[in-house]
Amino acid sequence: MNEVKQKIDRLRQVLDRLNYNYYVLNAPSAEDREYDRLMAELTSLEAAHPEFDDPNSPSHRVGSDLTKEFEPVRHRYPMLSLGNTYSEEEVREFVARIGRESGGTAAYCCELKFDGTAISLTYENGRFVRAVTRGDGVEGDDVSANVRTIRSIPMRLLGEGWPSYMEVRGEIYMPHERFERLNAERADIGEEPFANPRNAAAGTLKQQNSAVVAQRGLDAVLYAVQSDAPVAASHYEVLQRLKAWGFKTSAAVKVCRSVEEIMEYIHYWDTARHELPYETDGAVIKVDSIRLQRDLGATAKAPRWAVAYKFKAEQAATQLLSVDFQVGRTGAITPVANLSPVRLAGTTVKRASLHNAEQIELLDIRIGDTVLVEKGGEIIPKIVGVDPARRPAGSVPFSYITHCPECGTELVKEADEAKHYCPNATGCPPQIVGRIVHYISRKAMNIEGLGDETVQLLYNNGLLGDMANLYDLEVEHLVPLERLGQKSAENIIGSIAKSTEVPYARVLFAIGIRYVGETTAKKLAAAIPSVDALMQASREELLEVEEVGGKIADSIIAYFADPRNVAMIDRLRCAGVQLEAVQTAKLSAALAGKKIVISGTFEHHSRPELKELIEQHSGTNQSSVSKTTDYLLAGAGIGPKKLETANKLGVRILSEEEFLQLIGGGEEPAVPGQEAEREVLKVQQQTLF
Ligand code: NAD
Repeated sequence: MNEVKQKIDRLRQVLDRLNYNYYVLNAPSAEDREYDRLMAELTSLEAAHPEFDDPNSPSHRVGSDLTKEFEPVRHRYPMLSLGNTYSEEEVREFVARIGRESGGTAAYCCELKFDGTAISLTYENGRFVRAVTRGDGVEGDDVSANVRTIRSIPMRLLGEGWPSYMEVRGEIYMPHERFERLNAERADIGEEPFANPRNAAAGTLKQQNSAVVAQRGLDAVLYAVQSDAPVAASHYEVLQRLKAWGFKTSAAVKVCRSVEEIMEYIHYWDTARHELPYETDGAVIKVDSIRLQRDLGATAKAPRWAVAYKFKAEQAATQLLSVDFQVGRTGAITPVANLSPVRLAGTTVKRASLHNAEQIELLDIRIGDTVLVEKGGEIIPKIVGVDPARRPAGSVPFSYITHCPECGTELVKEADEAKHYCPNATGCPPQIVGRIVHYISRKAMNIEGLGDETVQLLYNNGLLGDMANLYDLEVEHLVPLERLGQKSAENIIGSIAKSTEVPYARVLFAIGIRYVGETTAKKLAAAIPSVDALMQASREELLEVEEVGGKIADSIIAYFADPRNVAMIDRLRCAGVQLEAVQTAKLSAALAGKKIVISGTFEHHSRPELKELIEQHSGTNQSSVSKTTDYLLAGAGIGPKKLETANKLGVRILSEEEFLQLIGGGEEPAVPGQEAEREVLKVQQQTLF
């Protein structure tokens, strides 16, 4: 076969596979720049050899995120990608082409390119109808239930003047802070972390359980409207209208009238983006006139009136001095690179993530190498390449450790896992300490006064061998330890004792069975309401529980197959820890049929405690205010938007005291009249902000 044809076929094959990993699995197997380089190579080969053109080539099609788990919905207007470039020269060429084709000087609307996942929101007569992913550009997955949990997306539009049918297009993204939190939580239960915020957002949007989506704090920014008649004459005005209708739009929009102004915008944001709380991977330059946009049209893949200039991730070259191996609470081994200090994106970098053995091997990273460090969406930078030209003579390939650096046990690696594990769960010090730290954490047993350092101190002093030992501690044990006085020792012992009141679902999360996160623990506790029943449950029974797949079921079985875990559970039982759900014992029916949203912080109870109180008194906790909500339980720091929505929908607002009164058998608060309610709100707003 012709050599060029062979090369084209190979590139198409590789790009199709990379697309699948990226869009469907949300686990990219190459760096974006490498993908873009392969795509550019394919496009130029196809351009030079039109005889091998194929409409199915990945160069002509939008990379598809369609899966079998969601209902496919056809877009009324196609959803395209964007042409992209890393070169300022090509941005200049784009502007020159538009100038030629429009026969004059056009205005351009410059925006940030949000690094998330594209979404199309359908509104009919001002009401949210559905949300659909980009899919293959023609049809996408219906993810409405998940999108409804994103608070910044309006279910009912404000103002007026919207078309009776429109598809509002934008990006769903995960802010840095939520991304870091999510990855820490995943690492905590032994799940692979997401590679970057984009994959985390896309992966979250394709979750089967919208309660999980609600917890993950996705956000959305909207930047286009598709309707039969244009909603405004310029793109800039479209954005203003979106804002007036209640959508979140980008604050970094600028209308530029020359290529110099566009370059200024690009240069400014190339640096300033590091201060943003979310990830952007470029600037999008769009022809501002909607009429001109329509005249310029689109290819099958992207509009001809817009281009994305992609920022180069900041990189620095430095020397790899050594590699440390950290052992997590689940036994997962994480290699961390120690680097010769180097300045990168405003900070000095000394350590970088290496992820796993496979990555070290793939990049052939060796001690002494000059490595390229990059700061993407993560706080910890990562090593993305090696400069082979600067490799010291006589260097040898890196050999990954075979035994645990902490306890010397031989490491294991499952075929479908990227990481190595130390299997010595009950004897490996960082695993023991890590599990106790997890047990006492806020979302688990919420044992106040104890922190990571104190747990380590107690472990070092031989006072803690596992979590059940917490209940053997006495004030006298703690007082002699450094940093602990009589008062704090008493507080710690008090709060350990109080943890015996924590309900079973949270205990199940706290004992740290691998892959059993907070939500899974709740589902398990509801379906199999005691630890004894859970120990007896067969794999089939476990698989019947919502959220529980093969990996989780096997992990539960393996946990209880270890007699040391069973013995530890028995000691927890002796200490009075809740090992069965007290479902039947509802404290009252005071909130029967009532749906309650909690927001802000409170004086007497934490939010998890308030949630439990709602359930114990037969109410239902909701995550966002809607017309079905009965009460908004408002604490300090509640967002004005939430109050506004509650006010608009006539949802009653309760203070913590009023709530406690209600479940304590008090009267339902009187329904204030509209005027009175406004007064109540005013007063509450004054006290809350
Ligand atoms: P893209 O992400 O480069 O650009 C198009 C998308 O940008 C739109 O669909 C929209 O969702 C988004 N966008 C964000 N802000 C926007 C704004 N202000 N206005 C308009 N759109 C905005 O294109 P794509 O087709 O989604 O993905 C292709 C890119 O994804 C590649 O260039 C590559 O970088 C990456 N990719 C990487 C791999 C890999 O293996 N690493 C695989 C596939 C794709």
